[in-house]
Amino acid sequence: MSDAHVTYVDVVVPVPLNAAFTYAVPPLPEGSPAVVRGSRVLVPFGRRHLYTGIVEDVHTRRPDMPEIKEIVAVLDPYPIVRRPQLQLWHWIADYYLCGIGDVMKAALPAGLKVESETVVEHSPDAPPDAVAGLSDADAAVYALLRDKGRLSAADICKATGRAAEGVVARLVERGLLVVSERLVERYKARRQTFVAPAIPRGDAGALVAALAVLKRSPKQETAFMTLLEMSRFNRAAEPLQPVEIGALTERSGVPRSIVRELEKKSLVAVTEREVGRFSLDTSQPAAGLPVLSEPQAEALRGIRDSFRDHGVVLLHGVTSSGKTEIYMHLIDEALRLGRQALMLVPEIALTTQLTRRLQRVFGRSVVIYHSKFTDNERVEIWRRLLSSSEPCVVIGARSAVFLPFASLGLVIVDEEHESSYKQYDPAPRYNGRDVAIVLAGMHGAKTLLGSATPAVDTYYKAARSGKYGFVQLTQRYSEMQLPEIQVVDMRREREQRAVDGSLAHTTIGTARRMLAEGRQVIFFHNRRGFAPRARCRLCGYVPKCDHCDVALTYHRRIDSLMCHYCGAVYPMPGYCPQCGEPAMEIAGYGTERVEDAIASEFEGFRTLRMDLDTTRARDSYDRIIDTFSQHKADILVGTQMVTKGLDFGDVGMVAVVSADNVIFYPDYRSAERAFNMLEQVAGRAGRRGAPGRVLVQTYTPDHPVLGFVRAHDYAGFFDHEIAERRAFNYPPFTRMIYVVLRHRDERVLDGQARVYAEQLRQLFGNRVSGPEPPGVARVQNLYIRRIMLRVEVEAYMPRVKEALRELNARLSAAGALRGTVLHYDVDPA
Ligand code: ADP
Ligand code: ZN
Repeated sequence: MSDAHVTYVDVVVPVPLNAAFTYAVPPLPEGSPAVVRGSRVLVPFGRRHLYTGIVEDVHTRRPDMPEIKEIVAVLDPYPIVRRPQLQLWHWIADYYLCGIGDVMKAALPAGLKVESETVVEHSPDAPPDAVAGLSDADAAVYALLRDKGRLSAADICKATGRAAEGVVARLVERGLLVVSERLVERYKARRQTFVAPAIPRGDAGALVAALAVLKRSPKQETAFMTLLEMSRFNRAAEPLQPVEIGALTERSGVPRSIVRELEKKSLVAVTEREVGRFSLDTSQPAAGLPVLSEPQAEALRGIRDSFRDHGVVLLHGVTSSGKTEIYMHLIDEALRLGRQALMLVPEIALTTQLTRRLQRVFGRSVVIYHSKFTDNERVEIWRRLLSSSEPCVVIGARSAVFLPFASLGLVIVDEEHESSYKQYDPAPRYNGRDVAIVLAGMHGAKTLLGSATPAVDTYYKAARSGKYGFVQLTQRYSEMQLPEIQVVDMRREREQRAVDGSLAHTTIGTARRMLAEGRQVIFFHNRRGFAPRARCRLCGYVPKCDHCDVALTYHRRIDSLMCHYCGAVYPMPGYCPQCGEPAMEIAGYGTERVEDAIASEFEGFRTLRMDLDTTRARDSYDRIIDTFSQHKADILVGTQMVTKGLDFGDVGMVAVVSADNVIFYPDYRSAERAFNMLEQVAGRAGRRGAPGRVLVQTYTPDHPVLGFVRAHDYAGFFDHEIAERRAFNYPPFTRMIYVVLRHRDERVLDGQARVYAEQLRQLFGNRVSGPEPPGVARVQNLYIRRIMLRVEVEAYMPRVKEALRELNARLSAAGALRGTVLHYDVDPA
């Protein structure tokens, strides 16, 4: 291929590597779409597999390489990734020190990624008597493929009930089977079956004849009559409406097979149609924009002013001050200008209440996007945004930053301090809030960050360094008081024998009074499961996970111990594995156990629990939130999930079962996290009606964080915290990067981590600390060491990345990283 006219394409491939790869474009079959930037192509990668890649560039520069592979197919005639998106992918790869392929993997919904899968088929060259001389098992597989054509290893497994690899390898070796690759397109359009009467309308004779046929089959008659009604058969003036088969069988109470009988008699016509997954709700918005209170209107004016000379503005508004109402006004302005808006929320739990509020105002302009959607649903939203640039507001979790926006005018990041904006694993380990700010910049859009308890970094940029604009809202809507916070000293309560299990009598008493007044109560506890560990009463032995360095949590529903890091489940031992005595007991409290105690303490009141274990199913959050917000339950026990911006009107009291769990966390951000969490929990109390109460149970009542929480003193907390950060050179005064090394062998890992840190010091001097084992020093059989690098905030990240890349290359070449898995975590949360 020396031809200068050959077209080359640079393709981003979803593998954890740094660069795009260049492929040649061969003459494509007639009718193939032309390759354009941003479209998908199918390319060979590695030994055999085919991947979907995204075309980054189309050019005629032949790369200086002996062999250039060719693309296999062009999948789209138009870009499915817009140009600013590719730009954003590169920014993420550079800033978060990962591969562009990693970013692509996270950005593109799986449904848009065609991949190949290995399939096996019977060889055309196999002799007719091939089966002779095969073992029974081999012969069975061979016969299966001869009958069925091509199957994947998984299909064979399913059909024969045993692992197929060994058999297949043997048969391939004998030349009886051949292996090839088959493309798997994951996206499936949703199809529905519709039924319509197949007799002429307005012809009484035909109808009478039909009914005569059905006389002896009452079920068929019922189904047919129901169909006539549902399809508006008798209203000749209206168009005939085919009826979805599920709706028909439900209304008529007959099974689908009956409808098929009608089809056989040619009385009905059955058709299949592709339908969207999102029923288009064309209803008009039900409400206008909320009328703002005077402080809210003033804050809105302040934000608009501040946007004139700032790209990013922080709205610091106490809980229940009506930040959402202000967001709505800004969104409305963006939509009126014909632009799109993106509203990020930290977690799905928040979206239900919020989306309903927004839907009432913006109707079908609201688009929801989050991780509990299926692949197919994500693809449909992606395509909807690609195919139109109509104004809309997307509400989504962090991954919504990857959607193909055409003209973004506004980004809102609600609860901007939330650490769930940060992706921990796998790469890209990005912070959705920070990426959203960059995204907005690329579109020339403004970003509003909102929080009652801003991240220390954000507040610093807004209230101190002037990098962000800063607007405050200090009053709750309709001047509700912030709740009174009472610290319950558990040491004293215990001395006075006034503690039952995990709850002090003080707490129980207040809860009882609130419930008696008809108000609701929330118990917050950030440990799920029944008991956080099991223990031998005699020798103190605590069972740990075989694969991770953590104590196992007891879950009563499955009567087993579970590892919260890898999910492994173990039976609860009857005897202590260490001393052999039958003295195993459980220790400590998780949400299950707290719920249990509460159910028996407050008999007659209805209790709900909300944590990871009760919300695995897709609609379970909504169900719990609906039940509680409609006051069909009195008590809610839950983890972090209950703290997140939920707006329940009747909550009179919130109890924090153990503040110590929140406060003592080995991390420079622990104080910030504790303050935020406690203040947010407190914000759930007394949002309407009478003032609320918050009880915080703790064994360290004098901890400074509790003092600030009690006074609802964010500014005081910030002053205290920022002084520490400055003194110890932590963010926002530096940018923190963890180099994380993992290895199966602890000794080898220690040696390698030490060498790595030494080499890193040669490059970055005293900006390097460690290596150290993190809090949990082994997960899924890999030991972990962390090296901390703190660079100046002004440092240019691509340069840092380059230096790290060179170091890795050098150490790898010298064999100094053998067996190690290494990654970076920039701005760890
Ligand atoms: P935040 O997001 O600041 O915690 P919300 O926006 O949830 O506060 O407001 C708290 C409560 O006050 C909600 O129930 C909301 O409906 C009500 N509210 C706030 N502002 C207004 C307003 N301008 N008009 C009517 N209701 C409001
Ligand atoms: Zn484990």
